[in-house]
Amino acid sequence: MRAVLVHEGGGPDQLRYEQVPDPHISDTEALVRVQACGVNHLDLLVRDGPWAAVVSFPHIPGLEAAGEVAQVGRAVEHVRVGDRVLVGPIIVCGRCERCRQGDDNFCKTLKIIGLHVHGGYAEYLKAPGDNLIPIPSHMSYAEAAATPVAFGTAWHMLVTRAALKAGETVLIVAIGSGVGSAAAQISKYLGCRVIGTAGTDEKLAKARALGADEVINHCRADFSREVMRLTGKRGVDVVFEHVGTDTWQKSIASLARNGRLVTCGATTGRVAPTDIWLLFLKQLTLIGSYAATKRDFLEVFNLVSQGRLKPVIDRCFPLEEAASAQAYLMERRQFGKLILNP
Ligand SMILES: [Zn+2]
Repeated sequence: MRAVLVHEGGGPDQLRYEQVPDPHISDTEALVRVQACGVNHLDLLVRDGPWAAVVSFPHIPGLEAAGEVAQVGRAVEHVRVGDRVLVGPIIVCGRCERCRQGDDNFCKTLKIIGLHVHGGYAEYLKAPGDNLIPIPSHMSYAEAAATPVAFGTAWHMLVTRAALKAGETVLIVAIGSGVGSAAAQISKYLGCRVIGTAGTDEKLAKARALGADEVINHCRADFSREVMRLTGKRGVDVVFEHVGTDTWQKSIASLARNGRLVTCGATTGRVAPTDIWLLFLKQLTLIGSYAATKRDFLEVFNLVSQGRLKPVIDRCFPLEEAASAQAYLMERRQFGKLILNP
């Protein structure tokens, strides 16, 4: 099959489109002919970042694949050859203490497709049969592949971790990202007022079209001041954070009394000062959130399948142009998800 491989750590130029042997499946696995694969920050970090140490090169990145079942192992019963499926990115045991408690995002043997095992930047991907989720006929492969990271992560953050309620106000930092555009839709679906920040007016216009009530250009204004102006000096109930160093202090300064900040990432850096006075005087809560549980993902995927939430796709690239797609992501030019089509 044709696939995109990373042979050693480095920039996007380390991605090579080449011929490799087809994967062989075991009795509990299935082989999927990939039709669409999402591009994520994790794909950048496996070749140039902390995750590069985890990967055994040469490595095929890509954790969000959707396609057609090409082959099934003898023990795989819920899907058949020809079925349209999404491959869930997290491989869990289902038996350890964490899995039994429903916290399978902390499974003791957790593996992420495209990180610990080969991913979907390829014509074929093998995965445990348990990871295959049938997709409805009206949903495109690109829409399915655009769902797991953005919607799974955002749902786990807002619903499970921050316990967002109808009537609350949410600030979504970098609303134009995949996870930001999913968070905007989930917040509106839950009946909240949404304020979003982005770096270009074009992204802000798109955020409004997604349902954002207020938008702030963070290149032109201090967004925490704007948030205070838009909320009558009250602040927001929940801040949705994933940017890190560049926005951390302003995000905390945007919170109302009893406010919660929930974060799933730190793309601009992992260290930032925290004003401890604000933390106790305003009785704030800082919440971490890691990936998503299977239950969370299936819940939000159900809403996407019903058309109540819609994946936002910026652009699709042919698989051989994976390096261009990653460069596009690094330049933060996208609004929503980037997809590769093998
Ligand atoms: Zn487990």
